[in-house]
Amino acid sequence: MKSTDINEMMTSQNYLESLKDDREVYIYGEKVPDITTHSAFKNGVHSISKLYDALHTPDSKEIMTSIDKDGYRTHRFFMPSYSNDDLLKAREAIAYWSRLTYGFMGRTPDYKAGFTATLQSESNLYNPFHDNAINWYRKITHNVMFLSHVLVNPPIGRGMAISDMRDIYLHVEKEIDSGIIVRGVKMVATGAVFSNAVFVAQNSATQYQTNREEDFALCFILPINAPNLKIICRRSYESSALSPFDNPLSSRFDENDSVLIFDGVFVPWENILIYRDIDRAKKFYSDSGFLNRYPLQSGTRVAVKLDFICGLLSKVLLSNGTASFRGVQVKLAEIFALRNLMWSLTESLCFNPEKRKDGSVVPRSEIATTVRYFGTQVMSQIKPIFNTILGGSPIMQPSSWLDIQNLDLNNLINQYFQGNNQKSNDRLKLIKLLWDALGSEFANRHEIYEYNYAGNNEQVRLDMLQQCKNSGVLEQCHSLVEKCMLDYSLSGWNDLGWSFDGICHDQR
Ligand SMILES: Cc1cc2nc3c(=O)[nH]c(=O)nc-3n(C[C@H](O)[C@H](O)[C@H](O)COP(=O)(O)OP(=O)(O)OC[C@H]3O[C@@H](n4cnc5c(N)ncnc54)[C@H](O)[C@@H]3O)c2cc1C
Repeated sequence: MKSTDINEMMTSQNYLESLKDDREVYIYGEKVPDITTHSAFKNGVHSISKLYDALHTPDSKEIMTSIDKDGYRTHRFFMPSYSNDDLLKAREAIAYWSRLTYGFMGRTPDYKAGFTATLQSESNLYNPFHDNAINWYRKITHNVMFLSHVLVNPPIGRGMAISDMRDIYLHVEKEIDSGIIVRGVKMVATGAVFSNAVFVAQNSATQYQTNREEDFALCFILPINAPNLKIICRRSYESSALSPFDNPLSSRFDENDSVLIFDGVFVPWENILIYRDIDRAKKFYSDSGFLNRYPLQSGTRVAVKLDFICGLLSKVLLSNGTASFRGVQVKLAEIFALRNLMWSLTESLCFNPEKRKDGSVVPRSEIATTVRYFGTQVMSQIKPIFNTILGGSPIMQPSSWLDIQNLDLNNLINQYFQGNNQKSNDRLKLIKLLWDALGSEFANRHEIYEYNYAGNNEQVRLDMLQQCKNSGVLEQCHSLVEKCMLDYSLSGWNDLGWSFDGICHDQR
């Protein structure tokens, strides 16, 4: 490792400046002139800028950053890991950032670092664009650039061949000397509006036909302000928030999901990683190391969110006066079990990792696929528990903080909205937080998000099964059953050294 300590990481101010470009963001019928000041995005932008502060402030700099092999200081998960300890420290950095958003921003810049840290170590996967991979590694890692990603074709023509969907799905339209022109649409790009560039590829379930669908076998990185790239945002929970008291989460952690329309977008050769190469486009998922690494970020983020949810539920139970009931405690324990499971799984990702050719290490696929499965399950498992043990209490709240300040109502609210040994304002503050986390439109989007986070739900399971087949786990399970079946036969026990005295003892 070089002894230099070159620091080119963006500060929060650099990050804010980087967003003031000519990106084409559309919401509520208008093209947004500046997302850093627009009511639909500005608090989200500032929440992310706080992450950049954490890279530089003395309190957290050592937790968050280290120096990569080129001598550049960067976020610990943006650089490859070389040991268990590196992975554990990367996990701590991920957890630190996640706690700043209480686990409610899923696609913070460290998510895609799961991929970008592999660009240098696996650069040959991208031949003949090997140099592009290395250059993008440097660019992203040295600046701690915010990369979003978009993989999925829109929900239309799912039963058709992708070439039959050419008028909609993203493909190469034309090759020119300096690069390619692409056209089509991709969904859903979470956080794209806040990012510096977007990673574009096909998802892992794509079935291509050789010699027919090469135009779709692409993988590239595109600055988010590329001309003719249109970002169509869903409605903003931030701009519909009433106040921090009413919407303490959605007013600042809405990472917005958007549809990206590539309306004849120029992609220069230096941004291309895979071009018209079906074999490499498929291999990307198994060979890049992305599927091994990203669950360290996603699993840790979910674990932090579960810490928050356990604390929140427990506090509401205390406020409701139900915390000591046996049945209620049983249900709370079930959520703690999920919390413990996620922390344990993310710890397992750091131990006994797989070694790559260049000496770097990535979490083992077996654990990574398991995190991918459970990470997408937990929120759906938790929701019914809340419905069961909170009953109607989350909805017993006035419409907004203005009701609390209304002089005609104030005394009544103080009297009748109290909690168990708790003043009404404290109870309502808690209940509004609970509603924002688990009952609001923001919360419902979060539930769908977590479920679909790791791709098509069937693919998540199929990939795990395939991994068990490839790694010999299935064979090992088969041989255990076969060993058991060798213990006996139609004539009774085979050499177990004792006899059977059951009903059919003539089998002895
Ligand atoms: C809030 C949110 C944020 C997201 N953020 C991102 C993001 O940042 N980047 C990104 O790339 N994606 C993102 N996504 C998209 C997400 O990755 C996909 O929604 C997810 O992979 C599921 O894929 P799908 O929606 O295409 O569902 P499908 O794959 O269409 O699956 C839906 C159902 O249809 C069935 N089905 C579909 N096709 C077939 C077939 N050919 N044969 C048999 N059964 C079939 C499946 O079994 C499944 O049960 C986001 C999604 C949400 C909801």
